[in-house]
Amino acid sequence: MDILHQQGRNDVAMVYLGTYGGDLMVEFVDSLGGAESRKDKWVVILSSLVGCPIKCKFCDAGIYYGGPLSTDEILAQLDHIVRIHAPSGNIDSKKFKVQFARMGEPALNDNVIEAITRIPEIYNVKNYMPCISTVAPGGREEWFESVLELNHHIFKGNFQMQFSVHSTSEDYRDFLIPSKKWSLREIADYGERFYAGGRKVTLNFAMGNSNPVDVDVLGSIFSPDEFAIKVTPLNPTLNAEEFSLINVFDQDEGNRLEVVKEMRDAGFDVHVSIGDLRENEIKSNCGQILVSYLEEKGRGT
Ligand code: SF4
Repeated sequence: MDILHQQGRNDVAMVYLGTYGGDLMVEFVDSLGGAESRKDKWVVILSSLVGCPIKCKFCDAGIYYGGPLSTDEILAQLDHIVRIHAPSGNIDSKKFKVQFARMGEPALNDNVIEAITRIPEIYNVKNYMPCISTVAPGGREEWFESVLELNHHIFKGNFQMQFSVHSTSEDYRDFLIPSKKWSLREIADYGERFYAGGRKVTLNFAMGNSNPVDVDVLGSIFSPDEFAIKVTPLNPTLNAEEFSLINVFDQDEGNRLEVVKEMRDAGFDVHVSIGDLRENEIKSNCGQILVSYLEEKGRGT
C-alpha cells in the first residue's frame, strides 16, 4: 500500500490516507486512545470498505463507495502502523485494540472476520482486543453470527462489540442512519446472545444537539447486565456541520450530564468518552482527511 498523506502526532493520533492503486483510497488511524504511551494502550482503527454506502448524516465517509477490501488490503493498513512502532512484530501493550470502524461499515465485508482471526497469527500480541463498531445493517445476520461465535469460542468475552445507536427514537435513527438496519429490539436480542461474560456490549451515543434519548425506553429494551453505554461528542465532520448536527459537549454540558445521570440511575455503566480533543484538530474523524485531500487536489464534491 502507498501512503498518500498523513497528518497528526505520533503521541496523540496519526491519520493515514492510503491507496491500493487507482482511486481506491482508505483512511486508517494509529492512536494512543488518550493513554500516555503505546505500552499502556494502543488503538488502531482500520477501514474495511472503500468509502461507505450507508451515508450516515454525521460522517464524511459516505462521499463515495468503492466496495469491500480484501483481507490482505485490510491487514496492510495495520502492518503499516505496526512496522513503525513495533518492527519486530512483538506488541507488548497492556491493551492492543484493533477497531473496525472507519471508513466503512465493517458488517458489510465478510473479510473482516478473517482479518480479525489472522492478526494474532501474524504478530506476537500480549493483549489483543478486537473491536467492531457497527450500525447493525440489515441482511447481515450470518456475518453477525460468525462474530458471535468468535467471541464465545476464541476471544471468550475479550471482544468489544459496539453498536452505534445514537438515539432511542427509531425515526431519528432512520434520519441519522438512512439505511436498512436492525431495530433497537433486534440489537438487544443479538447483544444478549453475544455477551459471553467479560466485556459488555456497548451502545454508542454520539450526542448531537437534537438526539432524542429516552432513558425509560432504553431501560425497557436493554439490560444493564449485558449492555454498557458510551457517550461521545458528535465529531465535527463536514456532513455534521451541513446537517446542523452540533456536538453538545461544549455548548450544553448540563444536558449531557443530565442524560448521563439518568442512564447511570437506570443501572448502566456509562463511559463518557470526550477523547483527546486534539484529535479534532488532527481531523482524525471518519472521512475528514479524505475529503480534505480531495479538495486540495480539486476533486472534491
Ligand atoms: S458512520 Fe460508519 S456506517 Fe455510517 S457512513 Fe460512516 S463509515 Fe459508514
